[in-house]
Amino acid sequence: MSELVLRTKRERSVLRRHPWIFSGAVETIRGGAEPGATVRVVTAAGEPLGFAAYSPASQIRARMWTFAPEETVDAGWIAGRVASAAARRDVLFADGATNAVRLVNAEADGLPGCVIDRYGEWVVCAFNTAGAERWKREIAAAARAAVPGCRGVYERSDADARLREGLPPASGLLEGEEPPERIEIHENGCRYLVDVREGHKTGFYLDQRDNRAAVRALAAGRDVLNAFSYTGGFGIAALAGGAARVTHIDLSASALELAERNTSLNPGSGESVFLRGNVFEVLRKFRDEGRFFDLIVLDPPKFAASKGAVMKAARGYKDINLLGIKLLRPGGFLATFSCSERMEPELFRTVVAEAASDAHRSLQVLRRLQQAPDHPEGLSFPEGLYLKGLLCRAD
Ligand code: SAH
Repeated sequence: MSELVLRTKRERSVLRRHPWIFSGAVETIRGGAEPGATVRVVTAAGEPLGFAAYSPASQIRARMWTFAPEETVDAGWIAGRVASAAARRDVLFADGATNAVRLVNAEADGLPGCVIDRYGEWVVCAFNTAGAERWKREIAAAARAAVPGCRGVYERSDADARLREGLPPASGLLEGEEPPERIEIHENGCRYLVDVREGHKTGFYLDQRDNRAAVRALAAGRDVLNAFSYTGGFGIAALAGGAARVTHIDLSASALELAERNTSLNPGSGESVFLRGNVFEVLRKFRDEGRFFDLIVLDPPKFAASKGAVMKAARGYKDINLLGIKLLRPGGFLATFSCSERMEPELFRTVVAEAASDAHRSLQVLRRLQQAPDHPEGLSFPEGLYLKGLLCRAD
């Protein structure tokens, strides 16, 4: 087997169980290796540290499969990792109120670059690195085996991350039957339709599940603004919590169409309004009209895709939060998010605090929010915490 030899004194991060090996830490690849090949990782002195997947096109040159030099990374080992990650989710969803769950969350589950989401009887996978790509057939088969009654496994490998690996986008059926156009799922008793072919990510923002529940718990009798609504997630949860009215805003006509269908799938007495438009413009219009809301959700897309874009993104987050805070009734709630991994939690907090002070409002943080526990963050891999939020109450 080929060996990835680290430069002198560059083994520290691997010893701390950080899964990424950057190009600058690599002395040489002894024996050569194809993209996605498994390489033995050794220190400059030849000490074995474990095994990694090789990504020659990426600055992240290799990602650790295992820190145990005695293990063998083969099809059975990969299948075992998938099965144990899936089994770890059972305790989180034992009550049956939710059937859409992330089964494998990449690095945090010891499978770098590999995402597996379950939507009821269907599985959707994304393979974002050369190593995950190398094993995708085995991973798909293992995912199918891990889901009782699984009818099909669909691939949605179209994230930008693949480009940095020199991999073209790929999507289509991997195992079993073609999924239907819309898959119906339930989350904490709410019903949603998911478009796994064209939808964002693998089709649904499963990472916001607990945050939707937090909003639902505060929604009774309230007038709710669901900005960046996508297919209605937060708003439908708010209606289930007894919201009097929900106003959804999104740029995407197809997302709003699905939001309307999702709304009609769920019984409830609250009113729903669907506005197609740019949140920045619609919120300014609401401000000029003197409109106020009791509960506002701001869940924008990633504003910072790269390190260099963080300061520009911070201005975007500040603008949107400033507009949102101005629309809060006294005592109103704000659930505000950033899903840019480049945006550190403290920077996000600072940005929201600056927005509040520019709006001349005092806000209390009731709870810090993050991605749901089926999207765990490896303790030695802080990069895995990408979704941050603040649940605030205004004065
Ligand atoms: N909260 C949603 C996920 C939001 S994803 C959920 O829980 O499911 C972000 C959404 O913002 C996408 O649907 C995208 O179409 C929309 N979007 C992006 N920029 C926008 C803008 N400037 N104005 C309105 N919507 C926007």
